Amino acid sequence: MPRTVITGGAGFLGSHLCDRLLNEGHEVICIDNLLTGSLDNIGHLMGHPGFCFVKHDVTNYIHVKGHVDFVLHFASPASPIDYLRLPIQTLKVGALGTHKALGLTKEKRARFLLASTSEVYGDPKEHPQKETYWGHVNPVGLRGVYDEAKRFAEAMTMAYHRFHGVDTRIVRIFNAYGPRMRLHDGRALPTFMRQALAEEPITIYGDGRQTRSFTYVSDTVEGIFRLLHSNIADPVNIGSRQEITIQTIAEEILALTGSASTIVFKPLPEDDPKSRQPDTTVAETALGWQPTVPRRQGLTRTIDYVRKRLAGCA
Ligand code: UDP
Repeated sequence: MPRTVITGGAGFLGSHLCDRLLNEGHEVICIDNLLTGSLDNIGHLMGHPGFCFVKHDVTNYIHVKGHVDFVLHFASPASPIDYLRLPIQTLKVGALGTHKALGLTKEKRARFLLASTSEVYGDPKEHPQKETYWGHVNPVGLRGVYDEAKRFAEAMTMAYHRFHGVDTRIVRIFNAYGPRMRLHDGRALPTFMRQALAEEPITIYGDGRQTRSFTYVSDTVEGIFRLLHSNIADPVNIGSRQEITIQTIAEEILALTGSASTIVFKPLPEDDPKSRQPDTTVAETALGWQPTVPRRQGLTRTIDYVRKRLAGCA
């Protein structure tokens, strides 16, 4: 039975990966300091014979007894309001946390997978973004703490790969969404859903013409799982090619919830990227991956979750 360590395993993506790995027969050691993760996300796994939770800050030395086959490094604040409020922790987990997770991987002769992000492309000048694009990031802007932490994490991962021969993978994740996102994490989709269901005004930042490529969580997890079992050490984009404006997705959420909420426009946050769309040729050709969940279905499932959370029963 493969034995897998996942940092940030109590987070949104991390907890879905815990589910998937357990389903695939892995033994899962979930490490999280619960800074932005939550036990609510993994409560259903407590008592599972293959699952173990360790509350630990991975910027400090990580000790795991016994053999380990895979280390997945998913620990990090990931929402703009989180990393703006936790700038030093964000930089530390991208830098020191990645170093510790790679150290554990090397010691155990395991395989490492880094959760990177489309944010490494910053406010991109190339569209769509290929993995070969170096990005357009403001290192001293407010978002720089996240973008540069992830860029450093990628550099550190490649250094361990080249210098120590560690088996590594890097996934660049584009706007994943789905159940278990926090209702108040400030991300566009849970915010709009919460506002629509509460009949509160929908807050669009800027003119709403900025774009993102939203990907339903089960598709993201499938891409990560395929990458983990591939032999590609270079970064791979995992995200939907279906680019949509923030205004349009807000309108879709209003229609799907049947809400009468109005739309209000607020100032665009500093360095908010104007567009984002992955070139997924590598994932399609090398991993045979492409998203399968239509947006309407993904949004509906997520709205159901938000509705249950608001009612206090999820
Ligand atoms: N956004 C918005 N209203 C909100 C929250 C976010 O208009 O209440 C915008 C945000 O400025 C950005 C887009 O929606 O342009 C996606 O934001 P999110 O935080 O979900 O993802 P990221 O910016 O990290 O891609």
